[in-house]
Amino acid sequence: MEMISEPSKKIPIIAETEVLVVGGGPAGISAALSAARAGADVMIVERYGCFGGVITQTMIGTIAWYRYAKTVDAGGIGLEFETRSKTMDASIDIMGNIKNKELTRALEQEGLMVDGKSTYEVLDTELFKYVVDELIQEAGIRPLLHCSVVQVIMDEDVIKGVITESKSGRQAILAKRIIDATGDADIAYHAGAPFKKSPKNELMEVTVNFGCSGINIGKFLMYVYLNRSKFGDWGETSGKEEEFFTTYLTDPFKKAQEAGEIPQDITIESYWGCYTDAGEINSFNGIHMNGIDPTDVWDLTKAEIEGRRRVLMAINALKKYTPGFKKARLRTIGASLGTRESRKITGVYNITESDVRNEARFEDTIGICPEFIDGHGVAIMPTTGRYFHVPYGIIVPQKVENLLVVGRAVAGDKISHAATRQIVCCTVTGQGAGVAAAVSIEDKTTCRLVDITKVQKILEKQGVRIK
Ligand SMILES: Cc1cc2nc3c(=O)[nH]c(=O)nc-3n(C[C@H](O)[C@H](O)[C@H](O)COP(=O)(O)OP(=O)(O)OC[C@H]3O[C@@H](n4cnc5c(N)ncnc54)[C@H](O)[C@@H]3O)c2cc1C
Repeated sequence: MEMISEPSKKIPIIAETEVLVVGGGPAGISAALSAARAGADVMIVERYGCFGGVITQTMIGTIAWYRYAKTVDAGGIGLEFETRSKTMDASIDIMGNIKNKELTRALEQEGLMVDGKSTYEVLDTELFKYVVDELIQEAGIRPLLHCSVVQVIMDEDVIKGVITESKSGRQAILAKRIIDATGDADIAYHAGAPFKKSPKNELMEVTVNFGCSGINIGKFLMYVYLNRSKFGDWGETSGKEEEFFTTYLTDPFKKAQEAGEIPQDITIESYWGCYTDAGEINSFNGIHMNGIDPTDVWDLTKAEIEGRRRVLMAINALKKYTPGFKKARLRTIGASLGTRESRKITGVYNITESDVRNEARFEDTIGICPEFIDGHGVAIMPTTGRYFHVPYGIIVPQKVENLLVVGRAVAGDKISHAATRQIVCCTVTGQGAGVAAAVSIEDKTTCRLVDITKVQKILEKQGVRIK
């Protein structure tokens, strides 16, 4: 590629803070809140116009769909997202409106409902934007939206700050600790921390999500009931999940393909998030595209445009071949496509498939994650109370000091990523990082050498299940 030199210039320092969180997704919000609640001065920077990451940009409200009656939960800020949203009328009891007794009984038997209520709430992803604004402001965190971090400021191996780009131009923010919650490990990458990224044909797919209005929900639910989809249809389960109910829809798209309305080389199989009394299904998660590198702007552009083309194919198939959808209309397309996998740091510890499949225990645990593995053809749900410890070592990068990396970019192998990328685990790594950053400042040590026992005690006080 031909190159050009960028002239160097002086830029203004617009802020100095103790803890700077870059990226406002579930991991970043958790990091910022926990650091502020542990006493640190915190700032959070987000490139788009709202916080929430995949939740608000891609309309993924199903942050707790892993929860069954016997699931041992992580607690902490992930749970708070649900409980706080509920108090602000920003979540929906997904199966609470089901009137069909037989279906209710079946869901209770599977552990998806208890006493006529669902085991989880689905976030209203539009209202969640406001929920996070409130949480951030209550915690006294300085927010900065519409601002991308594009470079780092280093003093040898120690990260000292970042360079941002926004409508205000190129500016700098200095910080004692930086938490990389960009999902793509952008900060670790710029800082020169070792990372891995699979070739793009091996990365998990990206997805353009969409929502519909004008649905006759009663008719649709009856159809779902009579054509129940099973986990076994997805991939390798541990056996117990094989017959479990899932909101997966395939038939309408197959029919459209048979009729020549969807090309043979395009597969649409859509998971639907939840429905509302207003005749809406807010999120169809089914327009998947492989071979896309989420750190390549040309690939991102291609996938957004192709994704929207496929959304229209999906809507037509839904209207034509799905009971209840005759008068349906496209309501929304995600503000951004959703990314599942890109860069992953090489950590002090790299979590493994064996760890997440075999209830690993670690001395440096910063929380637990229910045994919830979904991706790369594996689908295991935490129906029996099994869980693994999340070790601090997976958020500590090699080589760079005072940087922690959280969310879906933490260190681990392919199958462990199918567990650590889940929102519940992103909130655990985020919350752990926030507290560790605050403690390291208070104790005048580095993130690498932080007193983990002290971090664990504060996390417990913050409602996190550590062991
Ligand atoms: C279509 C789809 C469906 C999913 N469904 C589920 C589900 O049902 N349940 C579940 O648990 N998980 C689900 N996942 C996985 C989960 O949503 C993600 O792995 C999780 O959101 C990752 O959280 P994060 O905070 O690490 O990153 P993200 O949610 O991606 O947040 C990163 C944030 O950082 C910002 N950012 C990035 N770079 C910069 C920069 N340079 N400067 C400033 N800001 C930046 C982004 O704008 C974004 O807001 C799904 C993922 C996808 C794509």
